[in-house]
Amino acid sequence: MSVLSRRNLLRGQWHRSSAIRPPWSIDEAQFIDGCTRCDACIDVCETQVLIVKGQDYPEVDFQRAECTFCGRCADICPEPVFVSTENSPWQRKAIINKTCLTFQGIACRSCQDVCEPNAIKFKLRLGGIAQPELESGSCTGCGSCIRSCPVQAITTSESDKDNVGK
Ligand code: SF4
Ligand code: SF4
Ligand code: SF4
Repeated sequence: MSVLSRRNLLRGQWHRSSAIRPPWSIDEAQFIDGCTRCDACIDVCETQVLIVKGQDYPEVDFQRAECTFCGRCADICPEPVFVSTENSPWQRKAIINKTCLTFQGIACRSCQDVCEPNAIKFKLRLGGIAQPELESGSCTGCGSCIRSCPVQAITTSESDKDNVGK
């Protein structure tokens, strides 16, 4: 296999990847096409939420940290793979899954405690304990709640249709 076709094959694999690219990054295929993997964005990230796995491209790992939307990654990148930070960083929102402890009858409010925009409200269920509901409009997709959850019940998505509160 030629180097070029191998590269295209690998790019195809990355295009199908579920990796979360940095905030303000452009469409996945175009990002992969333009990013030179110089790692400048990773080096400058103030929370170290950006990582690179093996030979892949920069991605967000919310198990490490949250994104503060400082914009440094977009500003430092020498390639045209980010939009202006005057735009919204992304449409990403938190998704709270049924594995949340409160759905197993165990009280927990860890996610609410770390959510600065107060996007997670707890509603008392009849005969049960309070369970979280996400206010999508307030969620920035920062990822703070993800690391705070003791059972990894929170992810993020560009769509909130999977939220248990929906
Ligand atoms: S700074 Fe830009 S080109 Fe360099 S690794 Fe990050 S996204 Fe890719
Ligand atoms: S906006 Fe800041 S905190 Fe978020 S990924 Fe970029 S450099 Fe890191
Ligand atoms: S992603 Fe950030 S803003 Fe959204 S619910 Fe979690 S902590 Fe709150």
